[in-house]
Amino acid sequence: MELVKTEQKKFNDYLEFLDRESIKEFDGLLQQLGEKKVAMVSATGFGGGVAEILHSLVPLMNDLGLNVDWWVLSSCPNQFYNVTKTFHNCLQGQEGELVQRDREIYLHYNELNAYQMLEWNYDYIVIHDPQPAALIHYRDKKAGEKWIWRCHIDTSTPNMEYWDFLYQYISRYNACIFTMSEYVKENHGLPNLTFITPSIDPLSYKNIPLTRERAQEIVSSFGIDTNRYLISQISRFDPWKDPLGVIDVYRIVKKELPEVQIALVGSMASDDPEGWDYLYRTLRKAGEDYDIKIITNFNGITGLEVNAFQTVSDVLLQKSLKEGFGLTVTEGLWKGRPVVAGNVGGIKLQIEDNISGYLVSTVEECAEKVLHLLRNPMLSQEMSEKGREKVRKEFLVTKNVLNYLNLFVKLA
Ligand code: UDP
Repeated sequence: MELVKTEQKKFNDYLEFLDRESIKEFDGLLQQLGEKKVAMVSATGFGGGVAEILHSLVPLMNDLGLNVDWWVLSSCPNQFYNVTKTFHNCLQGQEGELVQRDREIYLHYNELNAYQMLEWNYDYIVIHDPQPAALIHYRDKKAGEKWIWRCHIDTSTPNMEYWDFLYQYISRYNACIFTMSEYVKENHGLPNLTFITPSIDPLSYKNIPLTRERAQEIVSSFGIDTNRYLISQISRFDPWKDPLGVIDVYRIVKKELPEVQIALVGSMASDDPEGWDYLYRTLRKAGEDYDIKIITNFNGITGLEVNAFQTVSDVLLQKSLKEGFGLTVTEGLWKGRPVVAGNVGGIKLQIEDNISGYLVSTVEECAEKVLHLLRNPMLSQEMSEKGREKVRKEFLVTKNVLNYLNLFVKLA
């Protein structure tokens, strides 16, 4: 296991996002918890929503007086991540058989990493997602230790063979967190079932307010013409995010509004080997159309650039076919931009259809809504103001910290 370093953050800087009641609630919970020690464990420290959340959650919890370390799996070859990506896909409903060899690879690297936990002394061990879920099998629980499994994916209609395999491990935890109740069947009898939505950090480079001029300057450096319409999707290159469908949407819109450009901005997560295949497929589909910009972290996309794309886009897309939550939707709404997104999973918690954005199920519907928003800037603005307010109330990191503290106290 390797420790991930995070930037320091001051909780006091976030007080402006809290009401009085929440501040009181924080005080009460922190008094009960004192300096409890917490380990967060995930597959990677970079790329994707889990890493994004932990980079804020961990330093804020530390600043509140807890002792939190963030560990990531180590010594896992691509072979392991290929298997866990299949786990991820099948737990989200993809068909396929869980072969013996994949079980062995998965368990082998969980076992190797669990050896490094023998000396650990934490009050809470929070394991994120399926990749490290079986650590609990190889590391006996010490007295007083509480294990929590946090699932970030959409497990509402899982491939049952994969779900049953995972179930034997997650049912041993002291608590299981899912993003929403429809991701888990009531009769599963999981311990201390808890529902917590993910969050964004309003003070990170990705989410601090950028002036339009500064944001335009940044996107221009990637070849975007800021005098023309821009639609963007910020996402890993992944079949569930449907980047190929996004290009189809763009092509329909382009017929009506030839000046439109589209940016597909995607980071290549280190635990997602499938990302490269999908990037190449997307590039091939884009062909010789240079109004389709495909940009990754290898072209210099960091949090600030994502912020700039989200700030200046006329419409943001998140055309997912499955989505655990979709932080890119939260980020887009927070920037006050109109979002058109797949009518799936956690996106439905964030966008109220026709009120604070549009939820769509097909390419045609998506294109129609994008065109409607591009042609009605006033409507775009009204919708996006409602979206931002919802994020302020429900999906900021402060709320996420509070939810964890409540669970810790409940388990103590
Ligand atoms: N992201 C990024 N750079 C990119 C593409 C995505 O930093 O080029 C971030 C994005 O801003 C969001 C996270 O990666 O914070 C993706 O989280 P989400 O929940 O949308 O999807 P996941 O990748 O976890 O399935």
